[in-house]
Amino acid sequence: MNFDESPLLVIWEVTQACDLACVHCRASAMPSRHPLELTTDEGFELLREIKSFGNPLMVFTGGDPLKRADLYDLIRESVRLGLRTNVTPSATPLLTEEVVDRFKELGVARLALSIDGPDAATHDAFRGVPGTFASFLRAAYRAKQIGLETQIQTTVTRRNRELLPRMRDLVAEIGGRMWSLFFLTIMGRAEASDDLSAEEYEEVFEFLYQTSKTAPFEVKTTEAMHYRRYIAQRQREEHGPQAETESARRMVFRTAGVSDGRGFVFVSHTGEIYPSGFLPISAGNVRQDSLVDVYRSSTLFRELRDPSLREGKCGLCEYVKICGGSRSRAYSLTGDYLAEDPRCVYMPGLNGHVCRAKETGDAIAAACGGLLTPV
Ligand code: SF4
Repeated sequence: MNFDESPLLVIWEVTQACDLACVHCRASAMPSRHPLELTTDEGFELLREIKSFGNPLMVFTGGDPLKRADLYDLIRESVRLGLRTNVTPSATPLLTEEVVDRFKELGVARLALSIDGPDAATHDAFRGVPGTFASFLRAAYRAKQIGLETQIQTTVTRRNRELLPRMRDLVAEIGGRMWSLFFLTIMGRAEASDDLSAEEYEEVFEFLYQTSKTAPFEVKTTEAMHYRRYIAQRQREEHGPQAETESARRMVFRTAGVSDGRGFVFVSHTGEIYPSGFLPISAGNVRQDSLVDVYRSSTLFRELRDPSLREGKCGLCEYVKICGGSRSRAYSLTGDYLAEDPRCVYMPGLNGHVCRAKETGDAIAAACGGLLTPV
């Protein structure tokens, strides 16, 4: 796909309302709906415009999409337009077996459910409401029973990283098609103390890499683009130098180098157009602006798609095209969405770069690699 023209996936946050109180919630969701949410008709118009991109994956997210009474109408229209449609409801009493059946009847392609702990005690503590784990299991097993694909989503933090092996087993048991791991971005209710260090990211990457070799489901990361770099490195270690290139090519094909604003666009509950739900900088609003025009032509989206504009070591890195670092994390931790990803241990310079710290006398740069430059 040409990501300058069309995104691979469009996420629409249909509401921020949600009955859960998750400790890491990006949206700081509230129980009540916002009065300025996009209306049903505005939603239909948005779906038609999304279709004009071609065939992006359409994801209804929240908050909890089930807090909107018109959710089924919106899903029906999305499916009618021919969009591959996913929905990510919260696991609350609203998510009954009948609701799962309804999603299947309407033509939802995949149901995304979140799990942040392998049992009721850990998961419910994370989600802030007792009974959430039971709701999750009920929906997951019902989907399995009726043949509705599931994607299981986990936010990785200091609180639960030791529990990942048990969650891996649970994903396999409930028949998840994909395990999608979100790495914390400090925004909303997320606390900096929950974030992993760069070294801890690498430990989790190794666990995911080993999991991906044998698991009966696919493994994907969000806001950890450097997992692609990690796989390329591990492939080279295991299969020799040639493997890195081939592995990197395969990954570019499989994950398509998707990142915030590149193959990805997010529409907020009030219509703001963001590169990602974790990078809340608005490039326009669907009430006044064309989503297609904003995605293709706005300065923000064009900058995010241009690897030559990456700063610091990301700008000098040989993996920039398959990785490029998390723009959301760079923004949340530095205020600069083009800055290097602060949670990556990799030091470019091993592959055609040299450090200019000596010539500039900059000891800090010598430590961080920020002044590396191509030979
Ligand atoms: S330095 Fe940046 S581009 Fe390179 S692997 Fe790390 S995050 Fe990715």
